[in-house]
Amino acid sequence: MDASVPRPRAADLLAWYDRHRRVLPWRALPGERADPYRVWVSEIMLQQTTIAAVKPYYERFMARFPTVEALAAAPSESVMQAWAGLGYYSRARNLHACAQAVVHRHAGRFPDSEEGLRALPGIGAYTAGAVAAIAFDRPAVAVDGNVERVVTRLFAIEDEMPGAKPLIREQVLALLPHDRPGDFAQALMDLGATICTPRSPACGLCPWREPCRARRAGTQESFPRKAAKKPGRTRYGAAFVAMRADGAVLVRTRPARGLLGGMVEVPGSDWRADYDLGDALRDQPVPAPWRRLMLPVRHVFTHFPLELTVFAARVPLATRVPEGMRFTPFARLKEEAFPNVFLKALEAGLDELERAS
Ligand code: SF4
Repeated sequence: MDASVPRPRAADLLAWYDRHRRVLPWRALPGERADPYRVWVSEIMLQQTTIAAVKPYYERFMARFPTVEALAAAPSESVMQAWAGLGYYSRARNLHACAQAVVHRHAGRFPDSEEGLRALPGIGAYTAGAVAAIAFDRPAVAVDGNVERVVTRLFAIEDEMPGAKPLIREQVLALLPHDRPGDFAQALMDLGATICTPRSPACGLCPWREPCRARRAGTQESFPRKAAKKPGRTRYGAAFVAMRADGAVLVRTRPARGLLGGMVEVPGSDWRADYDLGDALRDQPVPAPWRRLMLPVRHVFTHFPLELTVFAARVPLATRVPEGMRFTPFARLKEEAFPNVFLKALEAGLDELERAS
């Protein structure tokens, strides 16, 4: 590392925090001691959800269950009802179980160490670190996505996520001030949420702009480094373009749920990595003199590439319509909600039929 770059100092971040700290309903005012119950409830609610979405739920929840004893004594239906809308209902169940454990095992007082907190239901490493630091001023670290972003940029950590996590933790521990660990944890969260944002971080306002290695190199937005997603295995399948003597084409609507849900397709097989094209005629929607196209239609979905072999045939006017399918007149095909992959299959099949006629 370039020794001319100054080391970031916790004091600079804390001075910034003293001026710009966010006012949040669960956060203690300067000089006040945070209530572990309030900190804990907010941290559980904030997992996977934004502060703006959580605030009204948090306030209603606190009005209904103002203490850990009130929460522990409540019937589980009323806890679930107060949680409804936040999703992840196992968290609400764990929250209730945790409140009961605090009341019954710890006489209503939250343990004040990370280890003690981690032994409670539903409290993982992040929440234990956050509650220990914020509510008890323990020298604990709470590394969430915001903190990962700040620290990987600050030190230009090239390791990819999630492999970089231990190094990030190490760097946060090395920065941790012994006098104000709770404020430091909240300051890091605030910096990540308001200044060191994923896109266009406001480096000009950042208390660590001098020591920040990514800012110096102009590469802020490329951190944290992420491994390129591995594409899934290619799947294969067959698609059948059946054109009736009046020009209408056989189609069907896909089930509402699942991939391309509710969209329109030409009938075909399942898509599988081990699909055997030799058996494709087992999937034909109607018996017909199918012509197999030489070139498959290729499409890349987010999780896997697809190779669809197209079969095309002309069928008589009197062809029985299979259950769940319909013939769409040629002139109305463009009104059907075909996704790209089936548009490609349809066009390839129609071209083949035109060539063969
Ligand atoms: S200087 Fe910019 S990139 Fe670096 S920590 Fe501050 S806001 Fe983030």
